[in-house]
Amino acid sequence: MRKNIVAGNWKMNNDLSQTESLLADLKNQTKTSNAEVLVAPTFTNLYHAYEALRTTDIEVAAQNMHFAENGAYTGEISASMLKSIGVTTVILGHSERREYFNETDELLAKKVDAALVNDMTVIFCFGEELTDRKSGNQENIVDGQIKNGLFHLPATAFKNIILAYEPVWAIGTGETASPEQAQDMHAFIRKTLANKYGNDLADSVSILYGGSCKPGNAQEIFSKPDVDGGLIGGAALKAEDFFAIVNAF
Ligand code: PGA
Repeated sequence: MRKNIVAGNWKMNNDLSQTESLLADLKNQTKTSNAEVLVAPTFTNLYHAYEALRTTDIEVAAQNMHFAENGAYTGEISASMLKSIGVTTVILGHSERREYFNETDELLAKKVDAALVNDMTVIFCFGEELTDRKSGNQENIVDGQIKNGLFHLPATAFKNIILAYEPVWAIGTGETASPEQAQDMHAFIRKTLANKYGNDLADSVSILYGGSCKPGNAQEIFSKPDVDGGLIGGAALKAEDFFAIVNAF
């Protein structure tokens, strides 16, 4: 009953012409799985991507947004601006936002609220760093990130929440969590949700894995019972690779 989802996070890659050619390549791909597919281009290419993909079943998401509705926040983009161009899903809490832009759990909770007030869907990212993993502290870190970012929400909000577990040590490094490590953490995340909101809600929330997911490892990772798809960085920049992952269910 949970959705399988594969989302491509293009990060700060692709100018307009590169975006156009990737969008054209994506339109040539064939989906053979039941996964819902999203791509998240940069802000400058969002509207273009939305227009190009509106006749397909690939959805366009934003990589970030601000919590305020509008006003004196130079350089920022609001939920209503995203919605005004047709974008209704946003990635929040990516480890690069947390690390390089000092996004805290507290700030992310406000962004989540702003997205939900605007009826948007949130792909909420979290994950431990290598030192946490080495010291065996990964579950505590993930537990804190989820509770601080999301546990102020009522149960009904979770129909608009997708979780993305992304161990920082696996992002862009070529080092992937083993399918067993991913499954163990996803089961822990689901248990954490169940303890607060009950089993039915926990069973209904899609939990994506992210971190060096690629065509060669996606199938094994996605075969794990608590892994419902992937948030894909590097491998989302080539349409063939991305769709090999989309079709890995
Ligand atoms: P990666 O990035 O697939 O390049 O490791 C994943 C992500 O940051 O979402």
